[in-house]
Amino acid sequence: MMCELCDKKEMIEVKEKYHYQECGLPNILLDGILLRKCPECGNIMPLIPSLSKLHLAIARTLIMKSGRLAPEEIVFLRKYLGWSGVDFARNMHSTSSSVSKWQSGKEKMSMQAELLLREMVARGKKIEDYRSYDVEKGKHVKSPTVILHLEEREWKTAA
Ligand SMILES: [Zn+2]
Repeated sequence: MMCELCDKKEMIEVKEKYHYQECGLPNILLDGILLRKCPECGNIMPLIPSLSKLHLAIARTLIMKSGRLAPEEIVFLRKYLGWSGVDFARNMHSTSSSVSKWQSGKEKMSMQAELLLREMVARGKKIEDYRSYDVEKGKHVKSPTVILHLEEREWKTAA
C-alpha cells in the first residue's frame, strides 16, 4: 500500500507502541498493535482492532483514577457515553454553560457531579436512562412496587 501522504513509498508494517492522541487524551500508549509507516515521510497509520473495547478499557481506567478528572478526561467520558454537550448537561441536571466550563477547565466539576459521571460510566448507562429522571422536577412521584424474589439464595427483581 502506497503512502497516502507523499505517494512515494510503500508503507511498511512495524510493531511499535503507538501514542493514541486521537482519543483526546495526552497519555495513552497502545502496545502490541501493528503500525503502517512510510519510510519516506514518516506518515504513521495505526491498525487498531476492537476500538470500542479499547475505549471501554480507557473509560474504566479513568473512572478508577484516584485523583480528580482532568478536563480532557471529562470530554472523553462524555463522548464515551455517546452524549453531546447538551445531552451531558441534561443528564447531569446541570447547564450547558457549566458543562463547557468543566470541559475547558475554567471551572472544576463538583465532587458530586464527578462521582455521578464516574458512576454512569461504570454502569454503562446511555442517554435515555437518565433523561427519564428529568420528569417534572421536584414533584413527588409515588414509586411503583418492586417485587424481589429469592432464587437459589439470590434476590432477584421480577421482570
Ligand atoms: Zn509518505
